[in-house]
Amino acid sequence: MTQSRAGTEPPRTRVSFLSQRSAGASGRVLRPSAKLLPEDARGHNRALVLQTLFTVGQQSRADVARGTGLTRVTVSDLVTELMAEGLLVETGQREGARPGKPAILLDIDRSSFQIIGIDLSDSAVFRGAVLDLGGSIQRRVQLPVTGSIGQAAIDQVAILIESLLALVTAPLLGIGVGSPGIVDRAGVVISAPNLEWTGVPLQAALSEQFGVPVVVANDANAAVLAEHSFGDASGEGDLMLVRVGRGVGAGLLLGGALLYGSRFAAGEIGHVVVGTDGGELCSCGTHGCLETWLAAPRLEAKLADAALDTTPGAAGDTILREAGRRLGIALATIVGALDLSEVVLSGPERLLDGSLVEATRETIRRRTMERLHGGLTLRLSTLGDDIVLRGAAVMVISSRLGVS
Ligand SMILES: [Zn+2]
Repeated sequence: MTQSRAGTEPPRTRVSFLSQRSAGASGRVLRPSAKLLPEDARGHNRALVLQTLFTVGQQSRADVARGTGLTRVTVSDLVTELMAEGLLVETGQREGARPGKPAILLDIDRSSFQIIGIDLSDSAVFRGAVLDLGGSIQRRVQLPVTGSIGQAAIDQVAILIESLLALVTAPLLGIGVGSPGIVDRAGVVISAPNLEWTGVPLQAALSEQFGVPVVVANDANAAVLAEHSFGDASGEGDLMLVRVGRGVGAGLLLGGALLYGSRFAAGEIGHVVVGTDGGELCSCGTHGCLETWLAAPRLEAKLADAALDTTPGAAGDTILREAGRRLGIALATIVGALDLSEVVLSGPERLLDGSLVEATRETIRRRTMERLHGGLTLRLSTLGDDIVLRGAAVMVISSRLGVS
């Protein structure tokens, strides 16, 4: 049996696809990422218990049983196990005048474990933080990296992790890294031109060096996970997050699962040409890529030329509107194809808020069918510069505990 399968697609791939797509839970559940096989019922049930407590907050064992559909005996058993591991704590008795024995409330002990989050997406600094299980940042370290490329940049990541490890005060659940570029599911950075990384097995290398679980993913993918877990996302699990920085990229969450694409490049919209009227020369050699209209350094330079006058009708305002319009052209087809309900922009508010986002909204509205896509929400993220750090924590929580 095993022999005859040699050289063919292993069956696990298909099973994990089903487990992601057909899981019956609803709400803000992040589908476990290929780790849970159907026979791993206990692991799945553990994740359900943790998920309901992460999402709803403190509850009694009976509430958890109702919320998960598990029996009280199963819940009680799992709670005992999770308390022994330190993940859950009893927080006291429920206040109230109901007759009978008052219920004891349980909650996630958010201080029981810590996570190291790393953000490599900024060209000037590598950011790092120690976070708790609730995604709150407890300590920060940043390392100036201007000019660090290749092995030197990898060494800088290790130095940053070393200094964060010294600040960790609880058992470490793992290390999450948001990297620019194309990153596969095994955490290999296939290509990150700015860091001159090609085929760098960052996840495996860091995991071996530090002896703890490490998850490496694309920075926009980390960001969309943060928005889903900690932002104002509607919770439907269909969400696109567009990051505007030195480049333009996006992360897509569909049905609560990250979309990777056939070459792990889903969401790489920065080098899609928007319009048929040419445009400026892009770093990739093409004219009129979305980045040439929207990337922060390009916009800043154009606004500087226009003497920063961004009042309505002024030259600066026209530049911002045009950038927003080009983003709207790029997004309209995606919204139409995927029937998205929510698109979130993350980047410098000074550029994105106001005329730019209004023009994007207006362009999408004019280019999609009102009856189908009129309900689209387009807004700015409120997570600011910490979005990738917090997303890196979600990646670790998701991979270790099966929850978002
Ligand atoms: Zn380009």
